[in-house]
Amino acid sequence: MMFSRKKQEIINPYTVEQCALCNAVKKKKFAEDDYVFKTIGKCSSCNNGTVLISKIYGESVK
Ligand SMILES: [Zn+2]
Repeated sequence: MMFSRKKQEIINPYTVEQCALCNAVKKKKFAEDDYVFKTIGKCSSCNNGTVLISKIYGESVK
């Protein structure tokens, strides 16, 4: 007999933003129009660099 118990895994997507100049990294919740290498804007750490999305990944919630 087989149980079709589905393992429910909830994945929370995150977006990692990184400054191209000072490499400051910020993690935020994924927004629907986010994509890798999207320009976010000026860096708030060094006030000079451009912040890009460097990574998008999912974290499973327990
Ligand atoms: Zn910076």
